[in-house]
Amino acid sequence: MDTLEAIARETGLGLDDAAFAAAMDARDPLRAMRDEFALPTVAQVTADGGSSSGSGSSDEAGGSEPCTYLCGNSLGLMPLAARRVVDEEMDMWAGRGVVGHHRHAQGRAWIAYRTRVAELMAPLVGAQADEVGVMNTLTVNVHLMLAAFYRPQGRRTRILIEARAFPSDHYAAESQVRWHGGDPASDVMLATPRPGEDTLRTDDVLQLLADHGDTIAVVMLSGVQYYTGQAFDMPRITAAAQAQGCVVGWDLAHAAGNLDLALHDWGVDFACWCTYKYINSGPGGIGAFFVHSRHHDAGAAAAERRLTGWWGHRAETRFEMTNRFEPAVGAAAFEVSNTPILPAAALLGSLEVFARAGGMGPLRAKSELLTAYLEHLLNERVGPKRMRIITPSDPTQRGAQLSVVFSESYFARVFAALSAAGVVCDERKPNCIRIAPVPLYNTYADVWRCVEVIRDVL
Ligand SMILES: *Cc1c(COP(=O)(O)O)cnc(C)c1O
Repeated sequence: MDTLEAIARETGLGLDDAAFAAAMDARDPLRAMRDEFALPTVAQVTADGGSSSGSGSSDEAGGSEPCTYLCGNSLGLMPLAARRVVDEEMDMWAGRGVVGHHRHAQGRAWIAYRTRVAELMAPLVGAQADEVGVMNTLTVNVHLMLAAFYRPQGRRTRILIEARAFPSDHYAAESQVRWHGGDPASDVMLATPRPGEDTLRTDDVLQLLADHGDTIAVVMLSGVQYYTGQAFDMPRITAAAQAQGCVVGWDLAHAAGNLDLALHDWGVDFACWCTYKYINSGPGGIGAFFVHSRHHDAGAAAAERRLTGWWGHRAETRFEMTNRFEPAVGAAAFEVSNTPILPAAALLGSLEVFARAGGMGPLRAKSELLTAYLEHLLNERVGPKRMRIITPSDPTQRGAQLSVVFSESYFARVFAALSAAGVVCDERKPNCIRIAPVPLYNTYADVWRCVEVIRDVL
């Protein structure tokens, strides 16, 4: 807010003027990045199912202007580079068949694809390239990581998750406990916000670890809570849990590509994330994971216990087919099957865009401004009598997303008005709208427009 206010003074504009949004967009160092994305039109996102081609063809009845897309927390927009790289792989497949595994027109031999992806992904999460792998989708990777890292023994049998964890994470934790012969009622421990509060206090998490840490085998929280948008203090929680002897894994579904992460330096044991939210790899995109280098040695407990397949075998001798597993170096040894090239290609195209933007540093700087601007406009132009923002207002405790709760009588009207106006957000029952301005492709004008639609309908 200090930065926004300083710019308002400098430009002689009021923070609440529409012209302020235009001025912010004009001086945005990342403004050219928006052109790297396919922006759906208003007509395309408001059309009834099946009646729009969805292909970007122009629309005679109007609505050909870009929609206001504030839903990158759920599915990021398509980078043009994603389509280009997928097309190139289809051409390789058509033109070379199996030869493409080794000889490739763009120098991306399929056999080494995972390594290219890992090299571009690692800086986004603050990892060494050999600490990152790509495979499957998120929940499957949660299971594979827990197979390696969840080792109930003696008193230490529990998995700690949030009481309001994403259901898939909840089911994964419960079923892992059951799979290991435990009872989810006692071995899945839930961290719950205080009565009347929406978000978890870091101090409460630390207290819970101090009181019960010796009974917890794995702490598995989310980096950014999907519903409230709260960002957890990952370095502090990681250190406190490890001091109690717990293994610490993070679900980074809503944090990867959103926050500036430093998984290696924080000493995180493992992490998993999907890439179709802030990382824009497309619907059902391939998942990624992190295993800290301290777990890479063949003798490390996680390495002993992991579930393996041929793609985790050293590339140099994989095709000797000896049935003697020789682990690849690092996280690669935790991969199981050969890399699905088409989803990995879309991800690779997207990661090129992150690299061109200069990585998470500049993106996070813009993101903090965009989200502060959204918060300001909601508070000033809609007002706390009509809505409540449950996301923390401290910028260190949130990413791009604000979760806005409306009374039941307003909620349906607001969401319908946004949808009709071509403002794409998402609703979470019973009465929460998640709004996520994404620094790669959103503008200050997008934020302004969204708030004006809400203001008008109320
Ligand atoms: C989006 C999301 C998922 C989705 O899981 P998939 O296995 O990719 O379908 C899981 N957990 C969290 C916390 C999420 O936000």
